[in-house]
Amino acid sequence: MNFIETRGNDATHPLSVTFSEAILSPIASYGGLYVPQTLPQLGEDFLKKHISSSYKELALDMLSTFEIDIEHDVLEEAVALYDRFDDPSNPVPVVKVKKNLYVSELYHGPTRAFKDMALQPFGKILSSVAQEKAENYLILAATSGDTGPAALETFKNQKNIQVVCLYPANGTSDVQRLQMVTEDASNLKVIGIKGNFDDAQSALKYLLASQSFKAALKEKNISLSAANSVNFGRIIFQIVYHIHNYLELVRQGAITIGEKIYLNVPSGNFGNVLGGFYAQNMGLPVEKLVISSNENNILTRLIQTGVYDIREGDLKLTTSPAMDILKSSNVERVLFSLYGAQRTRELMADLDAHNIYTLSEDELKKLQEVFVADYCSDSEGKEYIKSAFNDGYLMDPHTATCFKTFDTKSDPKIKSVIYSTAEWTKFSPVIANALTGEENAVDSVALEAISKEAKVEIPAMIKGLFDKRIIHDSVIEKEDIEREILKFL
Ligand SMILES: *Cc1c(COP(=O)(O)O)cnc(C)c1O
Repeated sequence: MNFIETRGNDATHPLSVTFSEAILSPIASYGGLYVPQTLPQLGEDFLKKHISSSYKELALDMLSTFEIDIEHDVLEEAVALYDRFDDPSNPVPVVKVKKNLYVSELYHGPTRAFKDMALQPFGKILSSVAQEKAENYLILAATSGDTGPAALETFKNQKNIQVVCLYPANGTSDVQRLQMVTEDASNLKVIGIKGNFDDAQSALKYLLASQSFKAALKEKNISLSAANSVNFGRIIFQIVYHIHNYLELVRQGAITIGEKIYLNVPSGNFGNVLGGFYAQNMGLPVEKLVISSNENNILTRLIQTGVYDIREGDLKLTTSPAMDILKSSNVERVLFSLYGAQRTRELMADLDAHNIYTLSEDELKKLQEVFVADYCSDSEGKEYIKSAFNDGYLMDPHTATCFKTFDTKSDPKIKSVIYSTAEWTKFSPVIANALTGEENAVDSVALEAISKEAKVEIPAMIKGLFDKRIIHDSVIEKEDIEREILKFL
C-alpha cells in the first residue's frame, strides 16, 4: 500500500510514496503528513481469528494487511521487541478496576511509558530501512520527558542512525532526566537546554533553520528524519493495542464480539487516539473515542465547539506534562479522513496564519459522531489518584484524567477501556503528594514513600538509575547547540 498527503500535492513531491519513504521523510507537501491511501478492512472475522492469538501474532497479521514494503523478517524482529516487556506473553495487561471500567496498561516496556509501544519496533524498522538504502540518518528530538528516553533506548547501537535528544534542563522529572543522561552508546547524544520545554523546542527550530547546519549535514552525507508521532511508522504500531484490548475484553468475558466499547485516551499530540480512530475505521466496534485532556484543553474545546484556537498561546504547566500542548499534530490526520485534503490544507493554513480555525456546523457534527471530550484539572486529578488508590489501583496523573471523562462523558452501561500511559515511577512526586500530602518531594524520596504506602516494589531499572554513571553532562544555551552537535557528528 502507498501513502498520500493530508494537504494535497504541490507537484514537487511524488503523488504517493511507499511506507519506507514515508517514515524516512515524514513531512509531505505544504507541511502536511502522510496517511495510508486506504485502510484495510478487518471485520469480525479478523477478530474471531485472533481470539487466542498472542500480541505478537496479532501485530504481525494486522501489519500484513497494510502490505507495506518491509520484509517479513524485519517485521518479526521488530515485534519480537515486545519480549522486552515485563511479561512477554502479555505485554499489555488489561485490568478491571471497577464495574465497566478496564485499564489498558501501555507502560510495561523498558522506559516505563507508552512511547515504548511504538518506538521499540519502529526503531528496528527505521534502522533496517536506512541500512538497506546505505544511507545515514540523524534523528533530532526535543522531549518533554517520555519520548526522549524511549527514542534513545530504541536507537541505541542501531546502525546508520544517530540520535540527538534535547531536553529542558528545568522541565523533566529526575527519573526522566536520568533515563536520558545515563544512556551509553556512541550513536547517542543528549543535551540539556537551559530553560523549559518551549526553550528546547525553539532550540530545535533554531537549529533546523540554520543554513550552516544543513550544509554541514550534507557534507557528511547525513539526512534528517523524525521519531515524533507525526511519523506514520509509529502510528501503525499504535493501532494494534486497541484491537488487542477489545479482544482482551472478549477473552475476559466482559463483551461478546460485535459489542461496542469506549476507548478513553489521555491525549496530547493525538497519536495514541489516532491509532484508535484508525482501528475503528478498520472495523473495530467502538461506541465513541473519548479524549481526556488536562487544563491545556485545546482538544476538548475543538471537539465541544469546533474551534481550534491558540491565539492566547499560553501553555500551562500541569502535573500531566506529556499532555501540555497547544499544537496537536495528529489532529490533522483526522481532519483529512473526515473532510479531505483541500479542506485540511485550508484549515491548517488558517492555523498557521491566524492561530485559529473554525469548523462548519456539518463538519463539527461529523467530528462529534466519533469523539467526545472533557478535561481534568490538576486538583481533580489528585482526587482521582487518591480515590483509585483507596479502591486498590495505583495510577499516574495522565491516566487520572480519563477517570474524570469516564464519569462525565461515558454511558455507565457501556464498557470503557482507559489507557494508562505511564508507570507511577515516572511521576512519583505528584502521586506521593496525592497519596500522602507530601509537597515537592524529589523523585528518590517520593518513590520510596509510594513504595511503602502502596506496598509495591520500585522496579530495578528505575532504582538502578540513581547509581548509574552520568554520560551526558552538557547543559547549554540554544546558541551553542549547533557547535555541540557538529562536534558529536
Ligand atoms: C506521550 C504521552 C501522552 C500523550 O500521547 P499522544 O499520543 O501524544 O496523545 C500521554 N501520556 C503520557 C504519559 C505520554 O508519555
